[in-house]
Amino acid sequence: MNIAKVIVDVPASSINQTFDYLIPEKYADILVPGMRVIVPFGPRKIMGFVVGQTSESSFDSLKEIDEVLDLTPVLTRELLDLGKWLAEETLSLYITAFQVMLPQVLKARYKKELERLTDETLSQDLESLFAGRDFVPYEELEDTNLSYSKVQQAIQDGDVTVNYLVKSRVTKKQVTMIKPNRESHLLEEACQELPGNAKKQQQLLQYFIENPYEVEQNILIKKLKTTRSVIKALLDKQLLIASKKEIYRNPYEDSTFEKTEALELTKEQQQAITPIRNSIRQNQHDVFLIHGVTGSGKTEIYLQAIQDVIKQGKEAIVLVPEISLTPQMVKRFKGRFGSNVAVMHSALSSGEKYDEWRRIHRKEVQVVVGARSAIFAPFENIGIIIIDEEHENSYKQEDNPRYHARDVAIHRGEIHQCPVVLGSATPTLESYARAHKGVYKLATLRKRTNEKDMPDVEIVDMRNELHEGNRSMFSRTLIEKMEHRIAKGEQIVLLLNRRGYSTFVMCRDCGHVKECPHCDIALTYHKNSNRLKCHYCSYEEPMPVFCPSCNSDLIRFFGTGTQRIEESLVQLIPEARVIRMDVDTTRGKGAHEKLLNQFVSKQADILLGTQMIAKGLDFANVTLAGVLTADSMLHLPDFRSSEKTFQLLTQVSGRAGRHDLPGEVIIQTYTPEHYSIQLASHYDFVQFYRIEMNTRKTFQYPPYVFLTLITVSHQNHVTVVQTAQRIAQLLQQQVEDGTVILGPTPSPIARMKDRYRYQCMIKYKSEPNLRRTIKKVIRQFDEDMRKNDLQIHVDMQPYQLM
Ligand code: ADP
Ligand code: ZN
Ligand code: ZN
Repeated sequence: MNIAKVIVDVPASSINQTFDYLIPEKYADILVPGMRVIVPFGPRKIMGFVVGQTSESSFDSLKEIDEVLDLTPVLTRELLDLGKWLAEETLSLYITAFQVMLPQVLKARYKKELERLTDETLSQDLESLFAGRDFVPYEELEDTNLSYSKVQQAIQDGDVTVNYLVKSRVTKKQVTMIKPNRESHLLEEACQELPGNAKKQQQLLQYFIENPYEVEQNILIKKLKTTRSVIKALLDKQLLIASKKEIYRNPYEDSTFEKTEALELTKEQQQAITPIRNSIRQNQHDVFLIHGVTGSGKTEIYLQAIQDVIKQGKEAIVLVPEISLTPQMVKRFKGRFGSNVAVMHSALSSGEKYDEWRRIHRKEVQVVVGARSAIFAPFENIGIIIIDEEHENSYKQEDNPRYHARDVAIHRGEIHQCPVVLGSATPTLESYARAHKGVYKLATLRKRTNEKDMPDVEIVDMRNELHEGNRSMFSRTLIEKMEHRIAKGEQIVLLLNRRGYSTFVMCRDCGHVKECPHCDIALTYHKNSNRLKCHYCSYEEPMPVFCPSCNSDLIRFFGTGTQRIEESLVQLIPEARVIRMDVDTTRGKGAHEKLLNQFVSKQADILLGTQMIAKGLDFANVTLAGVLTADSMLHLPDFRSSEKTFQLLTQVSGRAGRHDLPGEVIIQTYTPEHYSIQLASHYDFVQFYRIEMNTRKTFQYPPYVFLTLITVSHQNHVTVVQTAQRIAQLLQQQVEDGTVILGPTPSPIARMKDRYRYQCMIKYKSEPNLRRTIKKVIRQFDEDMRKNDLQIHVDMQPYQLM
């Protein structure tokens, strides 16, 4: 077995296969599948994953592996298989599938450099480039105006060569530890011999005489108010000794979490958890759907099921949506399981993420709580996988590999023969339908654990407001209720729909709307900078003074950004203290948390924000929740718009009155009669499910059919149209009867970053060979994709239809 099969880090479909490399003698004993290696590939050196070993190859003159990057495999056997499955399932490349399963820092970085090979004098400009060095980063060459042909000549002459380097980004954090190098009485002697003015050194020695233990240098410096040079002086005298110690960057101080105990479960909770416990005990794979309103005790069920799994010596993966991975949520898990929990979310630095991942990899923890990619946690003995808020879109990755974490969870659950638990107050229609059919096991929690009713919901018809002369974004009822709450010292959460908040610029004379020159989308006005920005590419320009189309000076911004709402809110209720939470105010690290803390400590009366405030938060003092425009999502060209509206409204309602104070919800809308708004106001999920399923059946949408979306993009409009048409034609010839191919049509955003976009949608009930067919069709465009920058994306489970 002296040959390794390697998947190399070249994201191209023509390279999407294993390559054989000889294993050098020195690595023969240590190399196993799942390790990263550096291999020669053409003129370059690149990173690759060893996926297998063999003793025979159909190729001769194999090259050797250059270097082995890991001593223990970063991908377990199971993850190697999972990566293969993922690539096939999502029609993506093996390398992309492997990389998505690992922390960012394990990705390789590539660098090019010029190396001088000769002592003889080079041409003058080359000499000044090397400037006495033997190696020069390639970028330096690119920054000069040296002609490439000159460099090429020097390479041909053998004077210079280009090296391709692979760098691993891994940084393990090390700290310096200091400890005494002699026994205490010897230190005392030394202390007396120190010159009388060396007070700082004496103080330091005195410390170690009293505390003869190893201590971290930084802590020492802080504690004694001493300096590095004082320590160094004693190190040089060999009275102290220093060593390096590798530490984890632990983003959470585990000791600060108050320990919690399992609560006695309510009857409903017991009914829900019993079958889960049975599956755990019998090592059986089942999928459970827990449908329960906010506050019905789902999380407590997760915690107790995990407790069982830990007792069995197994591991648990808990997925929560990125946005609700709040300190409150982390606290629940750390409080119950302490340092046995790793947390993975995007707000951690890449070093912190890597360290949390290593704690899982080394099996130092049994529980991981994380966002989508935590589904790839390198556990090897999984006892349960939990997906909280299973309806959240963020579980679907909208980039290659376009996978849904739920599918990966169920696949891993089968492999480990363990239960998968999905929880939500508003399950997706897909999941609920499966539960209805008995494919998933359904448990329903009808009551809140505190026996409190869900808050009353009042729907306000904004059309009436307008007719009666109120042109503001706030109905009179809402203002009155807010004033009332502020007077009582209670708090308010106000939600503005994400999609509804873009402020576009329009000319009042001619109706001209300012659009991004690279994307077919209106530019968004940003007040702070008085500039217009594109939310898809990063194009921006100053706010125009005159309409570019008719020269009128009546060009104004429209729409309702959070900023504008905040302004008019303060005008209407001058005493209100408002915290605004949106992409702009939460950009920095920890900004999100800081704003929430301010709100919790009652430094504001109103929390105004986009979707990000609707989820997972739990404020004791909030007694009023308001939705400013419930319908802004309802009219999007997306068959899930009613479902999304229902989910959002239900979630916001869950924000108010979770504790002792009774809560109330105001929903402002221009379409109060719409069933998703009506039913959300009565918390009637089951009725919503029935009506929505009927609609889906009538129009043939999921869960009645499956969808696959193919998007073609290119700078040239004609190329895009022709390619998309050809794809549709080829597919049409090969799919089953009854399968429908819609399009090609321009994508809802018909141009993005200067690329035209067309799409075809495949609607089907059963297409066992669809993946193979699509692959075959797309392969015909391989060359255009490689050479001509044509892009074809396939999404086997599209969620973003925009
Ligand atoms: P969900 O996840 O469904 O929103 P939680 O598990 O967060 O519900 O429970 C809501 C609140 O009720 C929490 O404060 C939790 O501590 C409490 N709780 C949960 N189960 C019980 C129980 N069996 N007895 C008492 N309190 C409970
Ligand atoms: Zn105009
Ligand atoms: Zn743009």
